[in-house]
Amino acid sequence: MSTGSRGLPPVTPVSRIKTMPLLPLLPARTSYARERLSSAYADACTDFLQRLVSTPSPSGQEADVARLVADEMRALGFRDVRIDDVGNVVGWLGAKQGPILLVDGHLDTAAVGDPTAWEVDPFGGEIREGRLYGLGSVDAKGSLAAMIYGLGLLARSNDALPGQILVVAVVQEEPAEGLALQAALNALDLLPDWTLIAKPTEMRLVRGHRGRMEVRLSTFGRTAHSAMPEQGDNALYAAARLVFGIELLGMNLMKDPVLGQGTIAITRFTTHSSAHNAIPDRCDLTIDRRITLGETASRVLAELDTLIQREGVRAQARIAHYQQNSYTGYKLAADAHYPAWLLPEDHPLLVQAVASMERSLGHKPEVGIWRFSSDGVYTVGLAGIPTIGFGPGRSLLSHAPNESIQLAEVHRSIPLYADLARDLLFGLSNLKR
Ligand SMILES: [Zn+2]
Repeated sequence: MSTGSRGLPPVTPVSRIKTMPLLPLLPARTSYARERLSSAYADACTDFLQRLVSTPSPSGQEADVARLVADEMRALGFRDVRIDDVGNVVGWLGAKQGPILLVDGHLDTAAVGDPTAWEVDPFGGEIREGRLYGLGSVDAKGSLAAMIYGLGLLARSNDALPGQILVVAVVQEEPAEGLALQAALNALDLLPDWTLIAKPTEMRLVRGHRGRMEVRLSTFGRTAHSAMPEQGDNALYAAARLVFGIELLGMNLMKDPVLGQGTIAITRFTTHSSAHNAIPDRCDLTIDRRITLGETASRVLAELDTLIQREGVRAQARIAHYQQNSYTGYKLAADAHYPAWLLPEDHPLLVQAVASMERSLGHKPEVGIWRFSSDGVYTVGLAGIPTIGFGPGRSLLSHAPNESIQLAEVHRSIPLYADLARDLLFGLSNLKR
C-alpha cells in the first residue's frame, strides 16, 4: 500500500482485526431512548443546530464554528475541551483512564455552489414543516449537534462510565477525510480502541464504505506551429486515446459483494499550449477513482500503466498530493489515497452496537454501508481501529441546494447517541480486561 507522507502507525487490515463471539452486555440501566427527552433539551439542540448552520464553515474556514462547538461542549459538561493546533475541537467525557471510544464528527461543509439554485438562505437555518434548511444541515451539522447533545446527556448523569469518550470535531473532512483526525490523534499521542462516526445514515448503523484515490494523469508531446502539425506531437491526441481507454476500464473494475464495484471518472482536463496556434505539449487529467476492498494504490496505478503501454503514448499516472493549510496555519498534507474499509458483521463493536440500538428502538436496526467516504479511511483503513457510523439525515440531500434535515430525526438521535456510546463502553471494555 502506498502510504505517502502520513507517518503512519502499523496497518492492521480489517481482515486481521480480532473477531470473537460475544454476548452483548448491556448495563442494567434505563435506556435514554426509552425515557422522554425533555422538550427544553430538544429545543436547545435545535437552537444549536441553527447556530451551526448560520455559521459558515467551508473547508479551511472553520474558526468560528470551532469556537461555537467548543463553547457548547463546555456548557454541556464535557471536560478538557480545547481547540488543537490543527483547529479541531477536542473534548472528553467519562473516566480519566481505561479504553477509549472516539466519537468523530466534522466541522466543515461543502461549498454553497450556485446560490441562485437555493430557494432558502443557505445560512439561514430556516425551519419549515419540521425540517431545518441550510448548508451542512445534513452533512454533517445535524449529526454533530445530535451527537454533542446525546453525549451531553451522559455528561449530566452521575453514572460512572467504564472508560473514556473522546470527541473530536475535525476540520477539512470534505476535501481530505481522515487527515485532520490523524493529526489530532498524533498530537494526543493515542490510538482509540473504537470509533463511532457521526454522519448521516438515516438512523441505520454503517459498517464501511468504498475508498477513493485522486490520480493525476499527464500526457506529453512536442510543440510546433499548428500550421505544420506534422512537426509536433499532439499531447491532446494521446490524452484522447487514454480517455476512451479509461471509459472502457470503468466497466471491468473489481467488485466487492458488500461495498460494490470500484469506479473511475475523469473530472478535469487541462491542455497546455503556448498559443491558439501551437500544438499542445502536455495534457493533465484529474481522475476520481473510487476503490473497493482489495483495490490498492499500486493496483490502480498499474491498471493505468497497462493502458498507457497498450496505447503506446508518452504519459504518466501518479497519486495526487493534497496540501492545504488549516485556518490555524497548520499544514495538512498527504497523498490523496483513502482506503476502503468494512467491519465484519460479527465484530464485537457491531454486535454490541446492534444490541444497544435494538433495545433503544425496540427493533433491530438496519446495518448498511455509506456511498460516500468518511474519517473511517483513517481509523480503519490506515490505523486498524474498529469503526461504525450512525447519524440522522439523508445523505442524498447533502452537497445539493436546499439541503435539509428532519428535526424529529435529529431529536430521536440524541438519546440514541447516549445509549450507543454508553453501551459500547460497558459491553466492550470487558474485552479489554
Ligand atoms: Zn460531504
